[in-house]
Amino acid sequence: MPKPRGRQFFANPGPTNIPDSVLRAMDRPSIDFNDAEFVPVYDAAFAGVKRVLQTAQHLFMYNASGHGAWEASLTNLLSPGDTILVVESGYFSDEWAAMGRCHGLEVRMLTADWRRGADIGELRRQLAADTDHVIKAVCVVHNETATGMMLPLPAIRAAMDEASHPALFLVDTISSLGSLEFRMDAWGIDCVVGGSQKGLMLPTGMSFTGVSDKALAAHATARLPRFYFDWTMMANRPQKSFIGTIPVNIFYGLRESIRLLEEEGLDAVVARHARLAEATRRAVRVWAGNDGPTLFCLSPDRYSDSVTAVLMPDGFSGDALRRTVRDRFNVSLGGGLGALGGKIFRIGHLGDLNEPMLLGALAAVEMALRIEGVPHGRGGLEAAMAYLAA
Ligand SMILES: *Cc1c(COP(=O)(O)O)cnc(C)c1O
Repeated sequence: MPKPRGRQFFANPGPTNIPDSVLRAMDRPSIDFNDAEFVPVYDAAFAGVKRVLQTAQHLFMYNASGHGAWEASLTNLLSPGDTILVVESGYFSDEWAAMGRCHGLEVRMLTADWRRGADIGELRRQLAADTDHVIKAVCVVHNETATGMMLPLPAIRAAMDEASHPALFLVDTISSLGSLEFRMDAWGIDCVVGGSQKGLMLPTGMSFTGVSDKALAAHATARLPRFYFDWTMMANRPQKSFIGTIPVNIFYGLRESIRLLEEEGLDAVVARHARLAEATRRAVRVWAGNDGPTLFCLSPDRYSDSVTAVLMPDGFSGDALRRTVRDRFNVSLGGGLGALGGKIFRIGHLGDLNEPMLLGALAAVEMALRIEGVPHGRGGLEAAMAYLAA
């Protein structure tokens, strides 16, 4: 088959579109990471990540995808047999929990319906009942990329405070940083897990953790084995991060992506994501007519502004729809993960994206619904355009 003409419209919730200026910034020959030319690039990008995290505390970075930063968060903060409480949100919370079990942690789940999300009152009760403070960390995925749901971090912090519980507050912000409002210090987060290939608009392969003073103190007595991700070893290196070779080219890209985020303004970035997300949801609500595909998330106050998961009607496959969208229109969508495989498709609307790019993806979905004979309400694209033009 000939390669399709035109640019692929990429509406995955990660990796995301890489801006041309970021690609240009990374397109350069190798230099030593101790080279005097690189040091200011490293320093600027490092300081920039702290501004995006909104923290004045600590930052450690890794050559690894987000999973590596998850592993760093657990192994640097906990000891064998420690108990953690993971707030269930979907595939990604379950993966983080599975990693904890693998490392010999006692993992408690605050179970939740994936379409509605966890009950914060129940979290407060469980923490208040833990009078011996057995729970050492509460782990929350800020934006559950698998279901299109955002959890309210300030309300979770408040629940921990109301229960006067000293557990560390660990947050995965991989698909929210650089797209949804996020404030590490103001929201009292002790360890933040972030990655390069979502809101930061970079290639996959670099991840990091923001770490509070309280967490760094806990790290000093944490006994899980670690080497490649060890914060103490990193803190003793001149760059205060990375065991091994620093990904120099990614840093040139990172400096540029942070420049782009700050040129637009973090508040404006958040507002753009909210606008594109609402347009997407308006389209889906129209498609839901005639027993068509519906929004997977049933809690309007928790809609994710970076990804929308759409539940297919019974008897219709989200993967078949994605194939048609890709093969006929060269548009890439996300699929269902784990138990949701085939049942949903996901429209990623985060990162380097504007109205026509989103509308192109929505139009391709609407055409594929016709081609595949999936029942739906007509006019979703029109509803999205009406909203964006208003
Ligand atoms: C993408 C993602 C991850 C996993 O990150 P990788 O970079 O694929 O290892 C973890 N958590 C969330 C919420 C994600 O969206």
